[in-house]
Amino acid sequence: MVPVFTQGHHCVLKVHNAISYGTQNNEELVQKNYNLAVEECHVQNTAREYIKVWTAVAQTQDAFGEVPEIIPIYLVHRPSNDIPYATLEEELMGEFVKYSVRDGKEINLKRNDSEAGQKCCTFQHWVYHKTEGNLLVTDMQGVGMRLTDVGIATCKKGYKGFKGNCATSFIDQFKALHLCNKYCEILGLKSLQPKPKKTNVTPDTGLSIWCIKRLLGQWKYGCMNKCTEDVLKCYRRLPVRFSQST
Ligand SMILES: [Zn+2]
Ligand SMILES: [Zn+2]
Repeated sequence: MVPVFTQGHHCVLKVHNAISYGTQNNEELVQKNYNLAVEECHVQNTAREYIKVWTAVAQTQDAFGEVPEIIPIYLVHRPSNDIPYATLEEELMGEFVKYSVRDGKEINLKRNDSEAGQKCCTFQHWVYHKTEGNLLVTDMQGVGMRLTDVGIATCKKGYKGFKGNCATSFIDQFKALHLCNKYCEILGLKSLQPKPKKTNVTPDTGLSIWCIKRLLGQWKYGCMNKCTEDVLKCYRRLPVRFSQST
């Protein structure tokens, strides 16, 4: 057997408590606790498989450089404990950063600024492309290039028998919000956004078509994170941002 953890590394035990789900009796609580812990392992290890395949692709390009990793997590059963199931993973030492956020309303500058953040977005784009828009790895977060606590959103039916733990709407949101970065370009990924000058912006208002649709109630999100709160302050009104999105 190959040892799971290298000697001298600290580990984290995460207990997935079901109390907040309004469960009643103990048996139900244990079942929920089991389901949550298993789902956590299943999701993260699936995302890990995707990032391994992507890593092999990214490493064919010398210019790409270091590639982020999603660390493995393991299911642990502690029979004497009231909440018996937990997950175990290596403890990541250093500043924990959320490179992507669940609802898209927050803007995390590190996400756009840092190399790790940009590469996480590129990985999301690659998975989105490879699964033809049916699966998205969400909640990219961790320390530097080492990620954990990720989520997966799938289309309603699931993708190849796999159902994610995040809402399908995250996929639509990613499609509407993602702007390609230099790492997307290195991997030859094509922009998910319509060409902005002709189709995405109306000259009269300066609002993007997504924001206009949102004002008309035809679209759930704004065109960019800032617009999801207040579409009248449309992000794409700013000429500097406008030219960046081409
Ligand atoms: Zn991209
Ligand atoms: Zn906008």
